[in-house]
Amino acid sequence: MADSTNSPPPLIGIDVGGTKIAGVVIDTSAHAGDGDVCVLTQADRPARPGAAALIDDVAALIDTLLAHVPADCGAIGIGTPGTVDGTTGDVRDIANLSIDHVPLAGAIHARFGLPTVVENDVNAAAFGAARLIEDGTASDETIAFLNLGTGMAAGVIRDGRLDHGSSNTVGEIGHIPVEPHRWRCACGQRGCLETAGSGGAAKRLWPYADPPMPDILAAAADDAHPRHRHAVETRDTIVAAIANALDVLAVTVDPNVIIIGGGMAQTGAPLLDAIRAELRRRAHDSGFIHALNLPARLRLAPKDLPVGAIGAALNAAASVGA
Ligand SMILES: [Zn+2]
Repeated sequence: MADSTNSPPPLIGIDVGGTKIAGVVIDTSAHAGDGDVCVLTQADRPARPGAAALIDDVAALIDTLLAHVPADCGAIGIGTPGTVDGTTGDVRDIANLSIDHVPLAGAIHARFGLPTVVENDVNAAAFGAARLIEDGTASDETIAFLNLGTGMAAGVIRDGRLDHGSSNTVGEIGHIPVEPHRWRCACGQRGCLETAGSGGAAKRLWPYADPPMPDILAAAADDAHPRHRHAVETRDTIVAAIANALDVLAVTVDPNVIIIGGGMAQTGAPLLDAIRAELRRRAHDSGFIHALNLPARLRLAPKDLPVGAIGAALNAAASVGA
């Protein structure tokens, strides 16, 4: 038995989404579980618009979580959309919750008295996924996480730490404007990769099923399906944009491992197979791409764990040394 006095304290992780806020308390004692992470309790509640509501909702969720955990917790980590100030923990421009500015870290720290670290939601999920998929992966490896959610963005981890670059723009790969259809992007450009290679794009391009991606892949694989040809075109458009994003990550970040996550990754193996087939096709045509050996670097994020909330908690601990 491990000496409990030497065990790290439990950690609280919160993942703010556009419609719901998810929370966990995790134990990171050695041999606690997957990647040495054990979820002690989890809960969620609907997200409401406005800064005051967000602070109240996060605090209420933490109260709910703490009611189920007798031990003292060591830190609070929060992953959120919007632009996070890494120094103050303030967040700007959470569009889905109509928030221009919220002093999130300060307000939650004031209520609970625990070190509180706020991080961009994709970065938090990247940190969680990297820990949870560890399959002998050394912590000094470079890991990229490609989030295929409403939009497309990546998080990058080097030597066990998130890479924020000089202005928190590392990984905004969805806004590289090279998609040949030249669709208009919410960012104001045309042809951004996320206008084709994201869950939001798949919903727009295939309004016949929700979630769209499993239906697209099934129809594309079935000659007799009434929308077969359209499904093949749609699949190829989406997968090409994702493969472009993976190529960009490979040549700019050169990660040992690229983890695909976000809502679209819930499609699972059929999506991974389609992406790998496209990468192999490119490798067949190019010795340069072949040498990158991208299909072997791909992983899927764990499907059944709240990766964003777990990553927010782990990142908080890494940031404050809890
Ligand atoms: Zn864009």
